[in-house]
Parts: sequence; structure tokens; C-alpha cells
Amino acid sequence: MAIASLSTLAPVSSPRLTDSHGRVIHDLRVSITDRCNYKCVYCRTGEVGPQYPELAIDDYLRLIRLFVDLGITKVRLTGGEPLLRRGLLNLIRELATLRTRSGETLDLAVTTNGHLLESLAEPLKAAGLNRVTVSMDAVDAPTFERITRVPGSFDAVLRGVRAARAAGLTPLKINCVLLRGFNDDQIEGFARFAREEEVVVRFIEFMPLEEGRLWTPEIVVGLREIVDRIHRVLPLKPLPARDAGETARRYTFADGKGEIGIIAPVTQAFCGACSRVRLTSDGKIRTCLFSQVEHDLYGRMRAGESDEELRSYVLRTVQGKEARHHIGEPGFLKPSRSMVHIGG
Ligand code: SAM
Repeated sequence: MAIASLSTLAPVSSPRLTDSHGRVIHDLRVSITDRCNYKCVYCRTGEVGPQYPELAIDDYLRLIRLFVDLGITKVRLTGGEPLLRRGLLNLIRELATLRTRSGETLDLAVTTNGHLLESLAEPLKAAGLNRVTVSMDAVDAPTFERITRVPGSFDAVLRGVRAARAAGLTPLKINCVLLRGFNDDQIEGFARFAREEEVVVRFIEFMPLEEGRLWTPEIVVGLREIVDRIHRVLPLKPLPARDAGETARRYTFADGKGEIGIIAPVTQAFCGACSRVRLTSDGKIRTCLFSQVEHDLYGRMRAGESDEELRSYVLRTVQGKEARHHIGEPGFLKPSRSMVHIGG
């Protein structure tokens, strides 16, 4: 495809993406659809369908290439549910041909609910995908299906997880969002699951990003509590951070087999080390999950701006990235979009 081959012309002398707080941005998350085949009760009200348009696959490709020119090394495709998106394999094939500013292939990942992964794992790997992260909020089928509101979803996702592992989409991560009194009885089961299924389980604190109004500080199950509860049944040993920007606190078990991690944006915010920027399914830049404003990159592209003009817009926009989020503080404002419409 002509667009991808232009990547060899990336202007390595152009400035890198940094913000006014001195952070280097190298991680891009792109939502490629606003649609989802699950209606997870903590994420969606169940009534609201897609709200924002999708771009053509070639348009995502052109926009992503601008970011790669500016120093992005890791691209994660998300949604909505990215496996619903027609053209996903083509997009991954083209992204796999891009090179970072130091000439390496991109670190390419997808975040998915896993429902369609069983049949797609091998084609995704063959297209050039490195890794998948699968979202699972329970390890027992009835609880899982109460959350997703889709019968048969637990077995489908388990088959998807196993197919992804067999296809070599590893390290395979499982993301679990915990809500007190709702699925926090799954914590110990997830620790066993991590070992049995040879996956890395990441517990993520619930953030005020839902369509409805569920979030309270009390509903968040914090890092300390998760670690203590697992440690009681399966003793844990902390693992050292691999780099300064690592968002998860990682642990292995006493015998060294298996890994769990905790991502604690609420109780131990890591904004100071944030290296991310997001592109929504309709081509808007979001410099923070909790941004109150969006920046219409696609609108500028459609209006005919050149790649050079668009890159300079991206640079200016990222300069203004928010210092941090304000979850739990008086006056906290929920962002204009919920997680499913931003791209988690
Ligand atoms: N459909 C894909 C999936 O299920 O992974 C990608 C989109 S989904 C919105 C991405 C992740 O965001 C999921 O792991 C989901 O559990 C998480 N998520 C949704 N709402 C959240 C919230 N309020 N706080 C923390 N994580 C949330």
C-alpha cells in the first residue's frame, strides 16, 4: 500500500514528542472502532451503542505514521472492541512495515475482550502482531457472564486466551478491573489462573470513566489490599521495575512461577511517568484519559493539511498534555467520553 511505503521517508531530524512537563511520549493507543460486542456492567449502561464514527483503515494508518515519525515506538490498537473492525489484519500488516526512528519494528499490541480471538489469534500473529492483552473480570463463568451480559462469553474468551498463547502472542496479559462487592471475590482465583494458564494477570483499579455513575472511592479495590489477599493464599515476591515508565507493580510467586501485576492509577497515580497519548476512533487526539478537550487531527487531515503541518499540530498538542489526573479530588470533572468511547 502506497501510504505505508512512505514510512521510509520519515523525517528523523524532526523533533520528538515531549510535553511541557518533560515527559517523552512514545506510546500511542488508537481506538479503531467505537463498537463493542460486550456490555460490561461497570463500563456501559447497556442502552447506548456506538457514538462516534470510525475512520477508513488507510486514514488510521496515515495518522499513526505521523506519530511514529515523531518517536512513537509502541502502538496499541483498542476500541470499543478492535476485533470487530473490518480491515484489522490489513492495518496490522501495514503497521508491521513501519520503522521507529531508530529503525526498529514497532511494538504492536491489541487490547481485546477476547470473544473473537480463537479464530483470529493465528492470523493476527501472521499479520505481524506481537502481543495481545485480554480483558477478563472473573474466572468463573457465571460471574463473568453477569458482567459481560453475553451468554457463553466465558468459554469463548478462555478458548481465545489459549489460542493466543498457542499462536505466540506473548507475553499474554489478562487485565482485570476490580469493583468492591462485585467481583473482588475473584482475586485469589485470578492468582491461580495466572499460574495455571501461564498468563500475566494485571489488576487495574476502577476509574471514573464509566457511562453510568458507579464510581466512588469506596468501590476501588486498592493495590495494598490485592497484594495482601493474594499473599495470604499464595505468597508473593516483588519483581523489580523494568523501566521508569512501568505502570504495573509486578510480583511473582514464592516458587518463581507466574506473574501478577497491579496498575493503581487511583491509589498510586503514575502520571509523572506517563508516556501515552491517545487517538479516538474518529481521529481526535486525547492527551490524557481524563482530558476535558480533544484535538481534531483527522479534521485537519480531511481539510488537506500536509504531513508536515499535521506533525507540527501533533507536537504542539502533546506539549499541552495535562500534568496529572484529579480523580478523587474536590471539583473532579468526568471526561467528556467514557472508556469504551475513548479506547482503553
Ligand atoms: N474491548 C476491549 C477490551 O475489552 O479490552 C478494549 C476496550 S475496553 C474499554 C479496555 C479496558 O478498559 C478493559 O480492560 C476494561 O475492563 C477497561 N475499563 C473499562 N472501564 C474502566 C474503568 N472505568 N476503569 C478502569 N478500566 C476500565
